[in-house]
Amino acid sequence: MPFELPKLPYEPDALQPYISRQTIDFHYGKHHQAYVNNLNSLIAGTPFENATLEDIVRKAGDGIFNNGAQVWNHTFYFFSFSPKGNREPSGNLAKAINNQYGSFAGFKEQFTKAAVSLFGSGWAWLVKKENGTLDIVQESNAGNPLRNGLTPLMTCDVWEHAYYLDYQNKRADYLQAFWNVLDWKVIAERY
Ligand code: MN
Repeated sequence: MPFELPKLPYEPDALQPYISRQTIDFHYGKHHQAYVNNLNSLIAGTPFENATLEDIVRKAGDGIFNNGAQVWNHTFYFFSFSPKGNREPSGNLAKAINNQYGSFAGFKEQFTKAAVSLFGSGWAWLVKKENGTLDIVQESNAGNPLRNGLTPLMTCDVWEHAYYLDYQNKRADYLQAFWNVLDWKVIAERY
């Protein structure tokens, strides 16, 4: 069965003014959809034809990996947002963040630095390591931490197509807005 673009759990204008309807229309409606379409074309007749998306992310190479990981990454990214979510972590995840980064503000500062300083296109991730501690990692292009045995908890897309319509070249402004749409209830469920 071919992969499908998952329906977003909010309206395309629900994240305004931080992420515009126009950005959702292009980023989700065009870019994310194109990765789904490309993936379906590329896997036809290959051993990945009936694989799960996670298997493709973990094992595929070249174009199948690039498009498969971009499908996984974008779904993970868009489903981390909500118009009325918890804007700060709570419970065990909050404890882990405070232990490791001093405070939520300290974490935001380090994550923002990783996202803003990532050269070129890619993704900044908050991950859980096998020993249960947290880490912030940068991945270029379609990179995904599952390939390194890490559990992704949260991600920020820093490809220019994620922010150019709203913030042009100002990636730091996009990062500032990003915290206002993240739902830490969703992120805590992944921890
Ligand atoms: Mn993107």
